[in-house]
This record gives sequence, structure tokens and C-alpha cells, in this order.
Amino acid sequence: DELRGEATFDKKPRQVPGYHYSRVEPTPVRDPRLLAWSDDLATFLGLTRPSERGAAVNALAGNLVTESMKPFAARYGGHQFGNWAGQLGDGRAMSLGELTATDGSSWEIQLKGAGPTPYSRRADGRAVLRSSLREFLCSEAMYYLGVPTTRALSLVATGDEVVRDMFYNGNARPEPGAIVARVAPTFVRFGNFQILLALGEMDNLRALADYVIRHQFPELGEPSPAVYVRWFEEVCRRTAIMIAHWMSVGFVHGVMNTDNMSILGLTIDYGPYGWLEPYDPDWTPNTTDFGGRRYAFGQQPRVALWNLMQLGQAISPLVNDIQELNPALQLYVDTLATTRHAMMLRKLGLTDKATEQDQKLIEELEQALTESEVDMTLFFRHLSHAAPRLLAEGGSEAETWRELLAAAAYSMAPNEEQKLVEWLQSYLQRLRQETATPDAIRALMLAANPKYVLRNYLAQQAIEAAEADDLTLLNRLMTVLKTPFAEQPEHDDLAAKRPDWAREKPGSATLSCSS
Ligand code: AMP
Ligand code: MG
Ligand code: MG
Repeated sequence: DELRGEATFDKKPRQVPGYHYSRVEPTPVRDPRLLAWSDDLATFLGLTRPSERGAAVNALAGNLVTESMKPFAARYGGHQFGNWAGQLGDGRAMSLGELTATDGSSWEIQLKGAGPTPYSRRADGRAVLRSSLREFLCSEAMYYLGVPTTRALSLVATGDEVVRDMFYNGNARPEPGAIVARVAPTFVRFGNFQILLALGEMDNLRALADYVIRHQFPELGEPSPAVYVRWFEEVCRRTAIMIAHWMSVGFVHGVMNTDNMSILGLTIDYGPYGWLEPYDPDWTPNTTDFGGRRYAFGQQPRVALWNLMQLGQAISPLVNDIQELNPALQLYVDTLATTRHAMMLRKLGLTDKATEQDQKLIEELEQALTESEVDMTLFFRHLSHAAPRLLAEGGSEAETWRELLAAAAYSMAPNEEQKLVEWLQSYLQRLRQETATPDAIRALMLAANPKYVLRNYLAQQAIEAAEADDLTLLNRLMTVLKTPFAEQPEHDDLAAKRPDWAREKPGSATLSCSS
């Protein structure tokens, strides 16, 4: 009620000036069937697992709107690939309302793929199983890795087919449709503010800022010009923490437009994301990110800053002087640098008297990994075992490093190998200065270096199986990715090097934005 909603329930695509959201109704689907369910999240929300079909699944598919639900689609704009794109909005997402969790906190439940809204523009408001399964699995995997993220409660097959005019295994074809129910304290994005500034809706801008501050940042106090500044600082700080996490686990969002940036600093809108296999700052999973590699792994810190600057512009009418927002941007830069450094030290098992030398050591490692073709996840995971073992038991250093590189490298020229071995030697010298026991170092490293991440080809295999009605791999991945830092030796095959056949080939990629 604090925000202005348009109440016509009209699905026709249109501009919606003057409103924060539009009341909508989901469009029913043919035969909703539950494919996956997040037990932990559900328990936290006070929900029990529904059966495969029935009222609960109907609600999660948009076929049943209960009395207490007030479905709405939010209006937002955004910069896409650096250009102002005007009104975007929830074109295939709609919020059903809020649930109160067992701890009293409030959570918005949003269906993705439940049919058209005023913001669907020329698209259908639907989602395919492929992209829904990817969002479901990855948002939960990120949560269990400790990365700030929106959550996913359920994955429901719709029984309808969806046609995407895009390359998928070489041609356009009808695909099974699906709906994810995703969950977050709020889905407000940077773009919700931007559209209001762009259209000069100053009362709405203030109302949205006040709403977000009162409900999501109550610790900041009652809104005032000074509080808006502190709020922006907090958004910058949280965004820095999120980006540091992405960089630490090798996550590439793939489409970091301002409409895909959460005001809470959560990873949001899992589209063409991917995980680094060979460590490569220039790698991007987004096949429409031509040439510029704007959303490549190594660009993410810079793009997030640019996006924060756009948010700063958008809210600047609320503060006395736009200059007051600059320290927040510096806070982003500083928080990101210190958090990344601290995370990398943990990945390397370093705690004592971290020095400037350590920063150099980190940079040399990134350089050596970039120049060679070494799997990021495997490198750090094997290092977590190998380095403490050398400290504890001695043994041949050369042999240990050879084994480590054999396990983690996709290919290795002699000069690349030499550079990495030299790095490993100086790293071990540094590690020997630690006062912690080898066991403590191993524990620290194993808790910072996941064994299991959602490798791109694993997600793809789970999709192809699910499309053929086999949920075995989806279920296995759900289980394994819940404890990504645990050994789980019975699932070693899910922590293996990407097989040769799964190398990126032009044209084979499945990943563009609007699936
Ligand atoms: P994305 O690139 O997924 O962040 O989407 C950008 C914008 O396009 C958002 O406003 C989405 O809601 C909208 N959009 C993407 N896919 C669809 C679809 N299938 N139907 C309607 N709107 C869509
Ligand atoms: Mg989006
Ligand atoms: Mg490389």
C-alpha cells in the first residue's frame, strides 16, 4: 500500500508511467507437475513438501491464486549492455505476495514463467525447463556456497511447450516449459529507481526509497537525506561482498545489466551464467556478449561499479548534493579489494601476518593460471590437500606439484608448467611461515575451496535428462551441491575435470538472455 500499483489486470504490453507495479494474474498452464523442491528453504518458510500434483503445485504454477495472494509485476528500467533501455519490468516474473518465515522474517515469493504481464513487450512471459532448471539449481548452489543470492523453492513442469526463436543444439524447436518459484526479501533492483528518475517521477522515487529503507534497511533509521546516503553506502558495501564471492568461486553472472542488480546485494536473475573451468578473466558464458566481453569474469568488479554509479544517479535527487554519494563508491572499491584479498588468503590457507608480499603472491598466481589452462576449482581444491600434506609429511615437492597439475590442468606447455611450479614453490615457502598446524591449514582451505560447483556441462546433462523425464542427475546435483565443501567421495564424478567433449564449441552454447 505504500507504493502505487496499477490495478487493471490488463496483460497487454504497454508503458506504465506513474506506477511502481501492475496487478496481474498468472496465465494457467496445462498440467503442472512438481520436478524439484528445496526442502531446507521450505522448512524455513514453514512449508511442507507437496505431492507431485495437487493444489500446492497448482499454486506454484500460477493455476491457483488463493485469497491471500495479490500477484503483481514490478515496473523497472535499466541499462542493458551499457545503453539505457527504457521500461523493462517483470516480463515473465510475478510476485504472489509475502510469506512469514519461522523466524518472523518476510519473504517475497515470485513465479518466473507464469505468463505475460504489461512488461512482457514482444515476448511470451514463459520460461523453458532448460533455463528454469538452471536458475533453480544455481541459486540454491550459490546459497550453500555462502554467496548472497535469491533462493529457489520449487521447479514445476507446466506440461506446455514453449518455442524459443534461438539456437539450441543448432535449431529452434519447441521445448518443455517450466516455472520456478523464487524467494527473496525483495526483488527490487537498481532499475526500479532508474525508471522513476528517467520519467521524472520524483514522488514515486522517494516513496520507493522510503519503502525499501523502512522494510529492508530498518537499522538505518527513518529516511532523511543523510539516511539516503548511508543507504547507498550499504548497497555499495553489499554489492562489493557479492562480487568478491563471485570472484572467489569463479562465478560469471553473464548479464550484469542494472535491471539484474538487486538492491540487497543478492545474486539475481540466473540467465546465461557460467562457472570458470580454465581460469580465464576474459571468459564469458554469454554468447550474445560479442567481442567486448563486457560481462567476462574479470570485468565483473568494474561493471558492478558502473552499475552502482547508475543507481547513484537515479537516487541523487534525494540527497542534498550528488557529491555526497562518492564516498560510497570508494567504499565499494575498498570493500571489494579487502574482501577479495581476505578470501584469497583463506583459499591459500594464509592467516598469520599477511603482508604486501602476499598480494604479490596472489597476483602472480592469477597471472600463471591465466596464462595456462588450469581448472580453477580443481586447482584450489587439490592445493588444499597437497600443500598441508607436504607440511605435515614432507615428501617430494616436485612429485606433489606434478600430480596436482596433472589433476587440474587441461593442457600444459612446459613453460607454463615451469611458471606454475615456481609459484607453488614460493607459495610453500610462505606457507611454512604459518604458525597454524597443517591440519588447521587444511581445514581452513577446504572450507574456502569448494569441491563441487555447478559446472556448465553438468547443468546441461541434468537438463537433457530432465527433458527426457529422468530426474536422477538433478536430484544428485541438488544433494551434492548442498555441501559443496564436503568430500562426498561417492560423488567424485561430479567434481571431475570437464570432459573433452564438453569444451566450448561455437554454436553449441545454450546460453543467451531471454530463454
Ligand atoms: P533478462 O535479460 O532475462 O534480465 O530480461 C530482460 C527483460 O526482458 C526483463 O524485463 C524480462 O522480464 C524480459 N523478458 C525476458 N524474457 C522474457 C519472456 N520470455 N517473456 C517476457 N518478458 C521477458
Ligand atoms: Mg532480468
Ligand atoms: Mg587460462
